Amino acid sequence: MDSRFFTCSVSDCDNPSVRTGGCNICQRYLCATHVSPPFHTCDQTLDDKAYVAQIVAEINRLRSQINDMAVCRLVTSLSGKTCTIQHSDKVGQGALMGGSNYHARVLFGDGSSPWLLRVPRVASYEVGLPESLVEHLVRSEYATLTFLENTKVPAPRAYGYGIRGRDKEDHGVGVSFLLMEHLPGEAWTGEGTREQKAKVLSGLASILNEVAQHPFTKAGSLVPHASTLSRVSAVASDRFLALTHDGPFDDAESYYASFAEQYLALICGRQLYTEYPVDAYLVYRFLKDNVSQLASRDANGSGEFFLKHVDDKGDHILIDENFNITGIIDWEMARTVPRSEAFGPSLVTADMNDLCAGKVCLTENDQILARELGKLSPQLADCSVDEKARRFFWGLALEPDWADAKPLAVAILTVFGVDQRWEEWREHALKRYGGDGRLQRLLRGCS
Ligand SMILES: [Zn+2]
Ligand SMILES: [Zn+2]
Repeated sequence: MDSRFFTCSVSDCDNPSVRTGGCNICQRYLCATHVSPPFHTCDQTLDDKAYVAQIVAEINRLRSQINDMAVCRLVTSLSGKTCTIQHSDKVGQGALMGGSNYHARVLFGDGSSPWLLRVPRVASYEVGLPESLVEHLVRSEYATLTFLENTKVPAPRAYGYGIRGRDKEDHGVGVSFLLMEHLPGEAWTGEGTREQKAKVLSGLASILNEVAQHPFTKAGSLVPHASTLSRVSAVASDRFLALTHDGPFDDAESYYASFAEQYLALICGRQLYTEYPVDAYLVYRFLKDNVSQLASRDANGSGEFFLKHVDDKGDHILIDENFNITGIIDWEMARTVPRSEAFGPSLVTADMNDLCAGKVCLTENDQILARELGKLSPQLADCSVDEKARRFFWGLALEPDWADAKPLAVAILTVFGVDQRWEEWREHALKRYGGDGRLQRLLRGCS
């Protein structure tokens, strides 16, 4: 069977579902055929009230799977203290629900600092996390936090984890989960004066410099390991959670190529970019052919990899009222990556509007972070040369419509050195890749 997250929920349909394309309204996973009218007609444009109702319903579905007593038993065995679990179905500001995880507070009878119970959003059809990926993400985040405990990176302490249905790792909680420290601080929104932003980025530079003191020999994601606490294993998906775990990798080129190849296979298998498969295929084929442009940036330091947060949009940074960093959270997609990717321009210093609009540029924040890194290590400042890695991983951003994806495709071509209009490049690319069997099949499917 092909690699799939879910099989289409329509009876008698054996197609893989479109990744991250499940519908919370009719509560189904749908394949490329059945995701659109006339087979699927749910109106996805929700007003605020309907959106809140949908999230509350999801939280209730998830809560019905969580055995609070089993959580408390485990917490008591780990801490020696009695506790209660405080759930919340708040949506919006102050909510404990993140993009891919639900959280509940673990409150202790003696009033000591609460813990967090962190549970991947397996009850959301839209988030669409298959069990196999959830297992890897939970194990990987636990191992990453365990690793960080022995560094100066401020991250929550991990107290335990559980994997549903896995003998020694199950704990009877009913879902896969992580138990962790609840760090103080507010998520950084990127707001603030120039000085305040510079202060956060200066704090971040110190943290990145600490990360640079801990090189790895492979690219991948950490998983728990008996004797060494953690080891590098397969990459835990990408930040869109659209990929299956793959790897680990000994060199930068095969690491980057595996991402592009997974996208190519998923486009051909009608699991991603089902509305514009030929254009998406051409873009990822181009990226796969150009991974040496990414890998060659680390020619001097090849074979060295460093832990990268990956989902680093800014709200992963917790700050106090004086803009001091109190912690870095949400490590489930972390992976060890080549030096230039680890310390070069990433999402935290991107202008998200420009990124999504396809504007190619190093931002003011990119430059501030590079300057702060330069004060600590010239080698780290040198990583801030171009946007290639940021554009490579932002890709076509799972945009459902070509109109929104096209500026991203053009930006990718630009940053990788193509000086042609899209239409012109596309025509040449169709000729250049004319012998590619998968492309031929896609073209036949579209005719
Ligand atoms: Zn639906
Ligand atoms: Zn179907």
